[in-house]
Order: sequence, then C-alpha cells, then structure tokens
Amino acid sequence: MELLKKISEAPGISGFEYGIAEIVKKELKEYVDKIEEDKLGNLYAYKGNGQKTIMITAHMDEIGLMVKHIDDRGFIRFAKIGGVPDHVLLGQRVQVHGKYKRINGVIGCKAIHVMKEEERKQLVTYDKMFIDTGSTKEQLEKYGVKVGSPITIERNLIELENGLIVGRAMDDRAGCYILIEALKRAKPLHKMVAVFTVQEEVGLRGATVSAYAVKPDIGIAIDTTIAGDHPEIGESEAPAKLGQGPVIVAADGRRESLGGGLLANPMVMNWIIELAERLQIKYQLEVLEGGTTDAAAIQLSREGVPSSCISIPARYVHTFSEVISKSDIENAIKLLIGIMENPAPF
Ligand SMILES: [Zn+2]
Repeated sequence: MELLKKISEAPGISGFEYGIAEIVKKELKEYVDKIEEDKLGNLYAYKGNGQKTIMITAHMDEIGLMVKHIDDRGFIRFAKIGGVPDHVLLGQRVQVHGKYKRINGVIGCKAIHVMKEEERKQLVTYDKMFIDTGSTKEQLEKYGVKVGSPITIERNLIELENGLIVGRAMDDRAGCYILIEALKRAKPLHKMVAVFTVQEEVGLRGATVSAYAVKPDIGIAIDTTIAGDHPEIGESEAPAKLGQGPVIVAADGRRESLGGGLLANPMVMNWIIELAERLQIKYQLEVLEGGTTDAAAIQLSREGVPSSCISIPARYVHTFSEVISKSDIENAIKLLIGIMENPAPF
C-alpha cells in the first residue's frame, strides 16, 4: 500500500501527468520487456509475446484546477479541469504548481457574515471563488506561476476502519496501482500492453490515441465506479458496494441514454466473469448511468475493439476524498493476473 499512497498523493491533473509517469516507469522497469511514451504523454509497458494483443489501461490524470487569471494583489481565479463539483471546493487547501516553485494556497470566498440573506441560500459557484497563496503578483511571477499553471487539491491518503482507505485521486490512481502490481506478478500468455493513459477526465483523449497505436485484439480499462452503499445513494441507483469485489461493467454512459459510453463486448465480459468464478474471486456486475471510462474510446478505435471495463467501487468520487476498500484492490489484481495468464476469447 506504500506505492498506492505515493501514487495517490503525487500531483497530476490532465495534461500534467509526467510526475505519475515517472513513478510508474521506476516501479515497472525491472518487471516488463519495454517501456515507451508517446507525444501526448501516454506510457506503454509491454510484457509477454503471445499471439493476441491485450491492451489494459488505467488513467494517470486526476481532476483539478488551472490558473485563469491573477489580479494585481496576487489572488488567483481558476478554471476547472474535469468534473469538479463546485460544492466541494470551498476552503480546500491547494498547491499551485509554478515552473520554479510549488506553493500552498487556499480556496477563499466571501464570508457568510457579509452575505445577503439570498446569497446564503445559494450554492457558491467556482467563479465566485479564488485562490489565496499569500504571495504578491510579483512573487507569483518569480515562482513561475502563470495563466495555465496546474493546481491540485492537497490531501494525504489515510486509513479508515475495516480495511477502507480514503485519498485524493483514487480515480484512477487505484487503477494505476492495480495495473502495476498485476504486471509485476503475472507471467502473461498474451502480448500485454499496459497503457497508463493521459487526459481521461477531459474526454478519454489518451485512450483514443493509444488504442490507435496499439491496435489491440481486446481492450480493458481499469477505473473506479460509484458505490451506492451509503445514506445518500440507493442500491438500485448504484449497485456496487465496497468490499464485494471488483465491478465488471456491462454498460455505462450518459444518464438516460447510455450515449457516449461503453457497451461491453459480451464475449469479453463473460470471459472475465468465468475467470472470476473459476479463480474464486468475488465480483460485482454493473450498468452505470452517468459516466464512462477509457474503454468507451478503445472500443471505437480503428475497425472496432472488443472491450470491457473493470472498476473499483468508490464512495464520494470526484470529491478529493474517495473511499475504497483494500480487499477490492487485491481482488482486482488477482483478476487482472487471471486475464493476463489465461487463454482469451479473441
Ligand atoms: Zn476515472
């Protein structure tokens, strides 16, 4: 779990994943045949020489913020990168990544005391917030903070009771960790191409170009999904539960239509289910309305790629405090090793 902590706490919003890529490279270089990078920043790790090429992705990027404007006193207005909910931003501690120095900051807004009655009842939207680093405009310039500089929310990974952990960017550093561990332990029967993708949170961009490059026979994304086992989400809305094993996704996409998402290839999906049953690994099934993963992009690459997705249930996704179960991580690693070491349907 040391590595999961390290990779979760390392900063890497979409477009700025190089710090994560460095960690992945260092971890894997002794365990795989070859590691490559492409021009967008995707990291490819190759292992095995089988007839079939299986591409498995986990995205390195996380949601975050970006400097949009710096005023004369040094206060920073920001844009959101990926699906950041406004209501989780206020009061967060952040790090602003200047070219020469990483500095601390806090997200501020008007205090409740000076809000008018009407204002108090309304959600404060992100355009009413700003970042206070304590620095002057001139100092920010000296640190290399400028329009376009990335901003991450500061949060350490900590343990909760009963094998649960909470951390920032478990979506999808949990997936990166699972993929690294499976590659370290597996003796693949296939040509495995593990792709640590970039820019997933802003439209599956890394998966789109890497699937084209790899031209796989089968594509699988490892990501996180919505757990429905807490007081504010019903089980019928989101059936996945923490500790009940990795989730094999049947379909996902936009709410009410499942547009833009994944319809899992039935043969690939059933292959993964059979493997889980044969290897006696707990698993769950899911149709998720309201989101998708890299698998949606992989399936549409070139002439089409039979694809599927395996997800880790997470509570409070995209709040910077995502709760997952360590047992789901271990079971996902076992399932992934099973995929790497067993004959495939295509
Ligand atoms: Zn994700």
